[in-house]
Amino acid sequence: MATDPVCLKPINPHTARGGMIWFKGAPYYFCSEGCKDRFDVNPGWYAARGPVVPGAP
Ligand SMILES: [Zn+2]
Repeated sequence: MATDPVCLKPINPHTARGGMIWFKGAPYYFCSEGCKDRFDVNPGWYAARGPVVPGAP
């Protein structure tokens, strides 16, 4: 599982409804297009909140 960097929900990369974005060499998955849009506005801020790694709480 990955973690949606916007709402911090666990995301299954295979069923991520919001799709995926590469940012600074790492993939970010989103539960919805709304979350992806929010990430698009300020990706650095969301990415800086913490690493998005499989198994993270
Ligand atoms: Zn989300």
